Amino acid sequence: MYALVTGGSRGIGRAVSLKLAQMGYKVVINYQSNDIEAQKTLEMCRDAGSDGELLKFDVSDSAAATNAIGQWQKDHPNDYIEVLVNNAGIRKDNLMIWMEQEDFDRVLRTNLFSFYNVTHPLLQPMIRHKYGRIINMASLSGQKGLPGQCNYSAAKGGLIAATKALAQEIGRKNITVNAVAPGFVRTDMVEGLDEAELKKAIPMNRFGEPEEIAALVGFLASKEASYITGECIAINGGLYS
Ligand code: NAP
Repeated sequence: MYALVTGGSRGIGRAVSLKLAQMGYKVVINYQSNDIEAQKTLEMCRDAGSDGELLKFDVSDSAAATNAIGQWQKDHPNDYIEVLVNNAGIRKDNLMIWMEQEDFDRVLRTNLFSFYNVTHPLLQPMIRHKYGRIINMASLSGQKGLPGQCNYSAAKGGLIAATKALAQEIGRKNITVNAVAPGFVRTDMVEGLDEAELKKAIPMNRFGEPEEIAALVGFLASKEASYITGECIAINGGLYS
């Protein structure tokens, strides 16, 4: 049983990879550049009693994604990836009035177009095997919009809408498609944010931990979540519902 986690080298993606390894999946860990951290995640999956492999490619590059996934499939003719977690993401915040076109485009390419680039080549095998789980890492920002994040909110909002659309296309093939929308989670991505100030607005009075997000992803990836599809589940300590 194979699962692919994009952006699995660090943060939420690492915790998700570990969770899936604990569930018995061999985890294909995608990342862009951080070889050392990716290798660490792989070791953690092995320590959890499972295995995995690294699959380095830029999710925003359609040809790179298609080639890497195509090669993986050739190397594993008797297997398929039954769980896909579209997790890789970046932010490039700025008020709209100062936002450079390149920062708008890059966030859309990495956080939204990647959904197409990675999901599309994996759909046929899931449909053929009549089983699959697709989980998209959205954000609070995609649900309510956050100032300074027109690019990121647009990408994550688009991802939530794509989740709902795809769920309706392939529900009858026994493939579920869901999104997870975290609030603030303690990873490299939130470095530089004023946690002491921001947490005052969070009913749980703290940032979330990557493992808390991974627990939800693990449930959605499990057989037990067989009748949940097209959902976007908020996980934000009560910040927004
Ligand atoms: P993170 O700690 O910054 O890790 C980002 C991961 O994505 C890394 O593994 C990175 O790989 C990978 N990545 C970035 N660009 C990539 C690309 N073009 N191709 C392939 N991999 C790429 O981020 P995080 O906080 O764990 O966030 C994970 C997801 O959760 C993102 O989609 C983010 O938008 C979402 N999210 C995070 C929060 C939060 O508060 N942290 C809240 C809501 C949603 P390298 O190691 O190679 O750079």
